[in-house]
Amino acid sequence: MGFSNIMDSNSYTGLATDPDTERLIEARAHLLGPAYRLFYERPVHLVRGSGSHLFDADGERYLDAYNNVVSVGHCHPRVVAAITRQAETLNTHTRYLHDGIVAYSQRLLDTLPAEVDQVMYACTGSEANDLALRVAQMYTGARGVIVTRDAYHGNTEAVTAISPSIGGATAIGPHVRVVAAPDSYRSGQDVAARFLAGVESAVADLKAAGHGMNCLIVDTFFSSDGIYPDPAVLAPAVAAVRAAGGVFIADEVQPGFGRTGEAMWGFTRHGVVPDLITMGKPMANGLPVAAMAARSEVLETFAREVPYFNTFGGNPVSMAAAGAVLDVIEDEDLMANAGRVGTALRDELSRIATETPRIGDVRGAGLYVGVEMVTDPDLKAPDRAGAHDLVNAMRDRKVLISVCGADGNVLKVRPPLVFSMSDVDWFCTEFAGAVAALG
Ligand code: PMP
Repeated sequence: MGFSNIMDSNSYTGLATDPDTERLIEARAHLLGPAYRLFYERPVHLVRGSGSHLFDADGERYLDAYNNVVSVGHCHPRVVAAITRQAETLNTHTRYLHDGIVAYSQRLLDTLPAEVDQVMYACTGSEANDLALRVAQMYTGARGVIVTRDAYHGNTEAVTAISPSIGGATAIGPHVRVVAAPDSYRSGQDVAARFLAGVESAVADLKAAGHGMNCLIVDTFFSSDGIYPDPAVLAPAVAAVRAAGGVFIADEVQPGFGRTGEAMWGFTRHGVVPDLITMGKPMANGLPVAAMAARSEVLETFAREVPYFNTFGGNPVSMAAAGAVLDVIEDEDLMANAGRVGTALRDELSRIATETPRIGDVRGAGLYVGVEMVTDPDLKAPDRAGAHDLVNAMRDRKVLISVCGADGNVLKVRPPLVFSMSDVDWFCTEFAGAVAALG
């Protein structure tokens, strides 16, 4: 089916009319080739951002309800200043001593459970997951991996093999078993038991096939699967994986750094302490900074055998940016903001949902909200076309969102954590209008 968690410009229908936008679209296609996709039927040409707002080439203001990388807001002055200061002073790599990486690592580890006591740096979430797979494989001596059915864990060869959401020509590996995500909308009360049963059968299958148990790796918010923060399902599944000799990797690339509004990390709500934790996207508000945190006993074999080096990972500018992000999250109380504003957003979306049978479910935590579009609420049949139309209608109303889920029918609303109550009003006014116009 192919990467349903992006609203890509396979849907671009040549509706962009102004010559400048046409020129850019054509130049991109010519120079970058067809693997690159654009959002929306009418792609957006952005030139500036501030907080949760973006501005296009004509100076029009957009509400950003999608971009989690810039989690402390577009171009936050404290992050910009920290980057600038460090770039003016020194930027090298991790084979020289520098205070920045040590100070940041201590701060980061202080946000994690005490058992997770070491951290290594990379530049992307993909690299962090790739590293975590290698670490887990050397610790367990096994290759078998369990992932959810529409998981996305990145773009290296090793992690595309564990990312079924990519689909198309990218096959998942023979050492990989998929389990259904905990679909709270369709599975009702049974969701945790079903998830556990899926993991137990995958464990047995991997053993029988001779792959053994390397790891269970999940996005603890099940983002690309369709956003399922509730209920907590992971603890028994992780116990089953550990009993079979495997480890648990929490992919925090999406939920990490306070997005859920109640904790810094998505795994917290599941009451588990992971063996390895990967993170990226919002870590440095747009600079390519990612990491893998580990229990030192799990890391030990890898660390003994492999002299890890990542040219850009953990460099002084990256660490300065990442430190400034933690400063802003703390000083502006952004986790609490995500909780408060996210609740207001979900409440209002739930109210709008009562006015149309086309919205089957509104779910989420903090500033990560999924709105599931259905053709019929009783049948809960996914409405891919309706979601597609709504995303494009919102774009025309200058509010940016996308979709996720196996059927591409779950609206993904995931704004920067600085989203305000007036942004919620703006969002909901346009959303109610777009839903009404959908008919
Ligand atoms: N894991 C998850 C859960 C992700 O959502 C992504 C990116 N969408 C990645 C890993 C890969 O991160 P990156 O694009 O930085 O390589």
